[in-house]
Amino acid sequence: MKKEVIVLNCGSSSVKFAIIDADTGEAGLSGIAESLGNDDASISFKLNGQKEQQTLPANASHAEALAAIQNIIASTGVEPIALGHRVVHGGERFKEAALVDDSVLASVEEYASMAPLHNLANLKGITTAQAAYPDLPHVIVFDTSFFQQMPKRAYMYALPKALYEQHGVRKYGFHGTSHKFILDSTAQLLNKPVEQTSIISAHLGNGCSVTAIEKGVAVDTSMGFTPLEGLMMGTRCGDIDPSLPGTLQEKLGKSAAEINSLINKESGLAGISGLSNDCRTLEEAAEAGHEGALLALEMFCYRLAKYISSYMIAVPSLDAVVFTGGIGENSSYIRATTMGYFSHLGFTIDEQNNQAMRFGAKGNIASSSSTKPVLIVPTNEEWVIAAEAAKFA
Ligand code: ADP
Repeated sequence: MKKEVIVLNCGSSSVKFAIIDADTGEAGLSGIAESLGNDDASISFKLNGQKEQQTLPANASHAEALAAIQNIIASTGVEPIALGHRVVHGGERFKEAALVDDSVLASVEEYASMAPLHNLANLKGITTAQAAYPDLPHVIVFDTSFFQQMPKRAYMYALPKALYEQHGVRKYGFHGTSHKFILDSTAQLLNKPVEQTSIISAHLGNGCSVTAIEKGVAVDTSMGFTPLEGLMMGTRCGDIDPSLPGTLQEKLGKSAAEINSLINKESGLAGISGLSNDCRTLEEAAEAGHEGALLALEMFCYRLAKYISSYMIAVPSLDAVVFTGGIGENSSYIRATTMGYFSHLGFTIDEQNNQAMRFGAKGNIASSSSTKPVLIVPTNEEWVIAAEAAKFA
């Protein structure tokens, strides 16, 4: 019998949903309800390869969206065995996936102080889905769990220690399900046991993070207390001088919340290019000579290369550098420019292979003389969530 799992990812104005075969990772159904709370709320989905679209009532709530999603799921005739929920922040409590109960939900709410936009929306999704599917196990997979074995020297900030002890101020890391999937897939590709596999994994989507994984354990990661730290991203600034938010508040006469919005939503590729947060658009513009786009892409790659190189000291048994996410899987330009910084260290890529490795392809783009492989591995976070949830069915 197929082990089919409903995977839900409830954001502040959207619900992503899928039915995933926990054994193969195949998605019979996948879709998204978007613009919830706005007049143009809608659902689009792909069922057995066929694209469909439905409108939702104006200002549709998460509950209305989930009711519509429940109807779509019922129409497939699938009998799901469990639900897997993505939750962004699991604090220090959750080192692995957890079966939902009152105590687990209370922790998700408690950690909302550290990821307010995400955890509260995640929570709303879980409680609504529990009412819709009361007889199935509901399992949470946390973005942060994969990083819970990082050594203290990696996750502590050099701030007064009491802030860690009393307020949980530390690096948590995010995109854990993706980095875990990349680790498992790379181990398979290299034909090595996971616990002997060491990689630097670069997840480059709208959010971007790099993780250092030594012998199957995440030992450092670029995102921090929130998903803002680290790399330059679509609209997030990544690392900046920590004195800047305070200085900008004074200089621009803005509130802390306004500065927070500026560094999260108006910065990164979008802020530098003045054009777009979308890598594809920027590559086209750069080719046509757009200076902002060129600078944005150049900064993105330089900063990424610096992170990858710094993690080489955290991963002494390095097997491979791995790229994933929409940009990592598809942008031969970003990969070539980033890895170009490593040519004097013996890492070189084969440009023909690099150009060819796109749109879901998986493999090595390093040249035959490169010291180590440079791999492209498409991520599948939903599969990790489905597989974890199926364990509780
Ligand atoms: P999310 O983090 O929202 O899941 P994705 O992983 O889908 O995002 O990544 C989105 C990014 O991937 C966008 O910047 C998009 O431009 C980029 N991308 C997708 N396809 C290509 C491509 N063929 N070439 C360059 N960039 C691409």
